[in-house]
Amino acid sequence: MLTLFPSMFLGPLQESILKRAQERGLLDIILHQLRDYAFDRHQMTDDTPYGGGDGMVLKPEPIYRAVTTIRNTESTPIILLTPQGQAFKQETAIELAQYPSLFLICGHYEGVDERIRKHLVTHEYSIGDYVLTGGELAAMVIIDAIARFIPGVLGAQNGARNDSYASGLLEGPQYTRPAVFQGREVPGVLRSGNHAAIERWQYEQALHRTQERRPDLLEEATPDH
Ligand code: SAM
Repeated sequence: MLTLFPSMFLGPLQESILKRAQERGLLDIILHQLRDYAFDRHQMTDDTPYGGGDGMVLKPEPIYRAVTTIRNTESTPIILLTPQGQAFKQETAIELAQYPSLFLICGHYEGVDERIRKHLVTHEYSIGDYVLTGGELAAMVIIDAIARFIPGVLGAQNGARNDSYASGLLEGPQYTRPAVFQGREVPGVLRSGNHAAIERWQYEQALHRTQERRPDLLEEATPDH
C-alpha cells in the first residue's frame, strides 16, 4: 500500500475481523509512506499541473521508485484507486482475493501523473460515483471486501456465500431473539425447524427484496429477458 497518510489505516485495520486475519497470518498489510521515495531533500511528492488548473498532482518519480522497489513479483497487480476506474464490485473482490499479493496506490490532491496511470498501473478501481479527498478510504473499503474472500478470514464457513451479491441477489431479512419484540413476531417458518421450508422462504425473500430494491441485478443475471 502506497500512501501519504499511513496512519489513516491504523484504526480500521486494527479491529475485528481484519485484525484477527492479520494476527493469524492470513492477511499482511504493509503500509509504505510515499514521501520516503521522494528524490529531493524536501521530499516533494506533488507539483503544480502542466497547463495550469486547480490543485496539485502526485509526481511520477516517487511512485515509480516505490513500486519498483517494493513490489515482490512482476505479476503483482498494481492497483490505482481512482474515481475514473472500473466499478469495484463483489466479483472484483473475489477475483483479487486469488492473487498472493496486491499493490495499492492511494491518490491524493488532483490525482497521479498520467504516465503512472498509463505505464505502471495495471488495474484502476473506483468505489463509487463520487469523489473522495484521497484514495485511503477507498483502499480500506477494497481491502475489507477482498479479505472476506481469503480462505479462513470469515469465521462462519458460509459467511460470504449467503451474503448479498454472492448469488446475484440481495440477502433476505434476518431475525434473532427475542421471538416477539414490541409485539412484532419473527416469521413462524424461521422457528419451524423445517430446513427445506426455511431455505425456500429465504430464497423467496431474497428474490422479492432484489426485485424491490435492485431490479438491475436480476436483469444482469438474465440478459435475454
Ligand atoms: N481530480 C480527480 C478526478 O476528477 O478524477 C479526483 C482526484 S481525488 C480528489 C483524489 C484521490 O482520491 C484520487 O486520486 C483517488 O486516489 C481517490 N479517490 C477519489 N474518489 C475515489 C473513488 N470514488 N474511488 C476510488 N478512489 C477515489
